[in-house]
Amino acid sequence: MLGIAAPTEPFETEVVELGRRIACGRDSMRSPSRYVYDRGMAFLARDPQLKAALLRLVDVAPACADAEELADHLHAFLDGVARRTALMSVASRAAAMPTGRRATGLLAGAAVRHMAGRFIVAETPTTAAGRLARLWRAGSAVSLDLLGEATVTREQGRIYAGRCERALVDLTAAAATWPMRPVLERDSVGSLPRVNLSVKVTALTPLVRREAPERGCEDAAGHLRRLLRCARDVGAHLHIDMESMDSRDLVLNLALELLSDPEFSVGPSAGIVLQAYLRDAEETLDRVLEWARLSQRSSPLTVRLVKGAYWDLELIEASQHGWTPPVFTEKSASDRSFEHLTQRLLDAYPLVRTAIASHNVRSIAYGVIYARKIGLAPEDIELQVLRGLGDNLQDAIVAEGLRGRTYCPVGDLVAGMAYLVRRLLENSSNDSFLGNRVSGTSLDELLHKP
Ligand SMILES: Cc1cc2nc3c(=O)[nH]c(=O)nc-3n(C[C@H](O)[C@H](O)[C@H](O)COP(=O)(O)OP(=O)(O)OC[C@H]3O[C@@H](n4cnc5c(N)ncnc54)[C@H](O)[C@@H]3O)c2cc1C
Repeated sequence: MLGIAAPTEPFETEVVELGRRIACGRDSMRSPSRYVYDRGMAFLARDPQLKAALLRLVDVAPACADAEELADHLHAFLDGVARRTALMSVASRAAAMPTGRRATGLLAGAAVRHMAGRFIVAETPTTAAGRLARLWRAGSAVSLDLLGEATVTREQGRIYAGRCERALVDLTAAAATWPMRPVLERDSVGSLPRVNLSVKVTALTPLVRREAPERGCEDAAGHLRRLLRCARDVGAHLHIDMESMDSRDLVLNLALELLSDPEFSVGPSAGIVLQAYLRDAEETLDRVLEWARLSQRSSPLTVRLVKGAYWDLELIEASQHGWTPPVFTEKSASDRSFEHLTQRLLDAYPLVRTAIASHNVRSIAYGVIYARKIGLAPEDIELQVLRGLGDNLQDAIVAEGLRGRTYCPVGDLVAGMAYLVRRLLENSSNDSFLGNRVSGTSLDELLHKP
């Protein structure tokens, strides 16, 4: 876009300068394979049919019995794409030929696994331990996420909780051998646990229903209580992720209720997520801050501020029911909400700790400069990125001497599918910062006040 005026307020100038430095740092660390991947995402963003074909392929891949079955799906999906490149036509023809079917299916399977490997650190916490240690040594804290959303039986919920508990114990033992990293281990309030686990309530119980929250709450509460006890006993941080609106109130109520229990007054360190794309996000924040004011807990609640990963889903759900969407429908409205909530959270420090989770360099720079403006120390704000989407960004954050954390999903391809599809949607969206960046939108435009 032409005619972006230079920022005039000193605050805005500082945000743009820091944003530019982080973005340039990020781009200079980009590997050739990352460059190729980014070009692929830009290509997908321009072709909704191809994007739909890829997402469907990724979705069916783990359920296919063999390579031939995957080749059949590939052929059918590519058939629906009007603008095919020469490579796509060759792949589609090969997938339909008796002689080429198996080889094409094997190749497609390998490509899906390769893509998953960008976002998923390893299949088990044990095999992930080496990578987590490397990230720590390179200057980034981590949060482990055991993939396994949308549990369908209560037994699965129980097994998932057990895996989380084991991961907390095993990772605590592994983290004891990591070297000291003062910037990652303290803020002005006190010490920060090395071990950090993110959990999803829908993985703990199949009973999450907006219309009957009590049953889901009861079922998940038992598992979550066990995990909080375990985190407290080993000195780890437990973070409760936020999902779609279906479970938002249940998750928030459950988290705040359990954390109010006197048995958790001295720990563990814990956190919740606030989604800025929700129209009522500010009321949610009011509630969380009020809770924090009355809380007797010794360590402040961490609030991870995100825009929200379920935007498409919320719109579809609302339109199916004839509801007003609970999310903003203009990207700039989500961005403005994010900045406003960033201010409110940082103003509330040390009542709550703030983690800015974003790959949008403007959103990150805004938080860092605002924290500086109100006199907070650099370590009083945490910057979080997702493994696979924010790797180079994390390196640039470390280079600025800021406190960063990488969210590291662990699990197999089947458990990771919903996660993977969300990341691909996000990465190839025309509205997203990353999507715009790879399709050539100028940094000036992307760093401009929303
Ligand atoms: C460490 C980490 C942890 C996370 N944990 C969670 C979590 O627990 N729960 C969760 O929901 N998400 C979570 N997310 C994902 C997050 O919500 C975003 O989806 C993602 O980070 C993209 O936002 P962005 O600020 O990086 O990029 P940006 O490109 O600036 O923003 C993209 C986001 O803007 C919003 N958006 C896109 N189009 C529109 C539109 N037309 N109108 C209004 N808004 C729009 C959507 O939220 C979209 O994801 C996490 C992200 C990170 C980095």
